[in-house]
Amino acid sequence: MAEIVIKGVAKQFGAFTALHSVDLTIHDQEFMVLLGASGCGKTTLLRIIAGLETPSQGEVWIGGRRVDHLPPRARGIAMVFQNYAVFPHLTVFENIAFGLRMAKLPQAEVTRRVTRTAELMHIEQLLKRYSGELSGGQRQRVAVARALAMEPDVILMDEPLSNLDALLRLEMRAELKGVLAASKTTTIYVTHDQVEAMSLADRISVMNGGFIVQADKPTQVYRNPAARFVGSFIGNPPMNFLPAKRGENGRWHVAGKDFDGPDVAAAEFAIRPEDMHPAKAGLEAEVRVVEPLGPHTLVTAQVAGQPFRAVLESDRAISPGEVITLAPIPDRIRWFDPETQEAIA
Ligand code: ATP
Repeated sequence: MAEIVIKGVAKQFGAFTALHSVDLTIHDQEFMVLLGASGCGKTTLLRIIAGLETPSQGEVWIGGRRVDHLPPRARGIAMVFQNYAVFPHLTVFENIAFGLRMAKLPQAEVTRRVTRTAELMHIEQLLKRYSGELSGGQRQRVAVARALAMEPDVILMDEPLSNLDALLRLEMRAELKGVLAASKTTTIYVTHDQVEAMSLADRISVMNGGFIVQADKPTQVYRNPAARFVGSFIGNPPMNFLPAKRGENGRWHVAGKDFDGPDVAAAEFAIRPEDMHPAKAGLEAEVRVVEPLGPHTLVTAQVAGQPFRAVLESDRAISPGEVITLAPIPDRIRWFDPETQEAIA
């Protein structure tokens, strides 16, 4: 059992607060992704869990044991970082075996584990090669194999795929997902890449300015953002937002059209670009730019003077300067509190 519990963890660097009292539970064998823009505190949180950084406040528990006063090696974790520290002067076998030798495992066990993880990562044919001769993707596999060989309860990864080219990233992403699901470890994975986060995670913790804004399943984070920030950060292109005003009839006026909405005094209207279709009645959008993307067409427009994007089926020709009418799918409309920026249920 390696549940990870983070209780009220805060971190100050001098006068700067990198983390504000974070509470988060990562379940046993869960794949949790920490997602956020550069500087939001995700690496700091990972380093605190790893023991490479001391929290200013709060507690870290792994597998029912409080660990925030323990050194990294006593926490039962393995780590894979961006600059994956594979030793070039060692063979692939010795790189993977490195931690096992430090732990003084018998030779037969070292061989068993190295062989097994090398097979898992499809690098068994490279075991005798020197790591300095490997490609970036191969080195990355060695780094992951080395972490898996420790058979840790917990693996922490910080942007492990960021040095790879786009195609290799895609391939490694699918492999990592398969391997980690089979290995029964609890994984915390840091990235600023939302597609990577959506693809890998059991749950995503979306971070902003040292806070966790939402920790939820990828589909929930996408469909039901808990805050405006989440809707504006996740999705490519992100959610559209439009000001709304409550009419006397109780309905909401949005860009000259009426919508049913929540029973509150103030709200902002939001819709994802793919949650609309051209129709007779709807939001009038003045088309500025049309980008055919193959299966879809991305339309950048203005609605009531606000920037607005729609992802439409590519069967209908649309031209810049044209005014098109877009009907939002009613149950895909979301509303946010303009003050708190939180979702209105
Ligand atoms: P990135 O994706 O760029 O790595 P991040 O979300 O991982 O970003 P952190 O590395 O956790 O961000 O940093 C959070 C904030 O804390 C940043 O503003 C950073 O400048 C600051 N910070 C991190 N480490 C230190 C340090 N040792 N001293 C001072 N400030 C720091």
